[in-house]
Amino acid sequence: MNVLLVFAHPEARSLNGSLRDVAVQELGARGHAVRMTDLYAEGWKPVVDHDDFPAQDRSKRLKIAAASGETFAASALTVDVKAEQDKLLWTDVLILQFPLWWFTMPAILKGWIDRVYSHGFAYGVGEHSDRRWGDRYGEGTLAGKRAMLVVTAGGWEEHYGPRGINGPIEDLLFPIQHGVLFYPGFDVLPPFVVYRADRLDDVGFSAVAEQLRDRIRSLATTSPIPFRRQNGGDYLIPTMQLRADLGAPGKDGFALHRREDDEPISEKPYL
Ligand code: FAD
Repeated sequence: MNVLLVFAHPEARSLNGSLRDVAVQELGARGHAVRMTDLYAEGWKPVVDHDDFPAQDRSKRLKIAAASGETFAASALTVDVKAEQDKLLWTDVLILQFPLWWFTMPAILKGWIDRVYSHGFAYGVGEHSDRRWGDRYGEGTLAGKRAMLVVTAGGWEEHYGPRGINGPIEDLLFPIQHGVLFYPGFDVLPPFVVYRADRLDDVGFSAVAEQLRDRIRSLATTSPIPFRRQNGGDYLIPTMQLRADLGAPGKDGFALHRREDDEPISEKPYL
């Protein structure tokens, strides 16, 4: 398989750096082709601005989505963004690796998404009408590929449990896993999360490294999170509401958008 690892930590000798090396080594040992985007080391430009749309008239008001779509359609994206899109098209598996900072990804990684996810590439794909709301949430440019988060967190696992004060980890990661990864088509694997990362000693590191190797070995076979596909019949079009007859009693919020284990997959769009 082809694997792209996007790495967002400023220090190569960090825990994250060591875990990245473990992952890359295991991927290589399994015969996978690996490409890396090391955002800090490469000096990734983390903000969207006029410079991202060189062919646009700077005297006019910048409308980001329109400028993004026009620039993408004209193949006039900046070289760095184009290179990342090519890597995404090349890869079978995307790994985003980062320390949890203020309950989400570091800003530099958000900036990678903001810039690389052009209109026409990651959003604004497919037919948009009152009968079909585009190719997204399970369909789109990156459909058929897999993605996984590798995250380190200072907090305890219990702090991120169902009743933990930080909120459940699956809720905190929902905007990334569902909004950023599932949206353009990725099948999203359960995240690999290291808790109490700041307290990790050598013994702890060895155990975590082995768990990560295990997840790398099963990248092709691990079942994805069962997010509901937008165009699979579970949602009303065009309101995009989950059908009233779906979702277990008592479930609400983000959990509604994951299928239950025993729930049949809708075959036909419900119009
Ligand atoms: P490092 O500091 O590099 O290392 C952590 C520990 O691993 C060290 O003790 C190190 O000795 C040890 N270690 C053991 N073996 C090795 C090895 N082989 N290689 C390297 N290190 C090893 N946490 C939360 O839970 N929620 C938050 O919202 C949150 N927000 C944060 C915001 C900011 C701005 C910052 C700076 C931290 C935040 N944290 C938060 C904590 C953060 O998630 C952790 O500090 C981070 O995940 C640790 O990863 P690291 O790679 O930076 O670790």
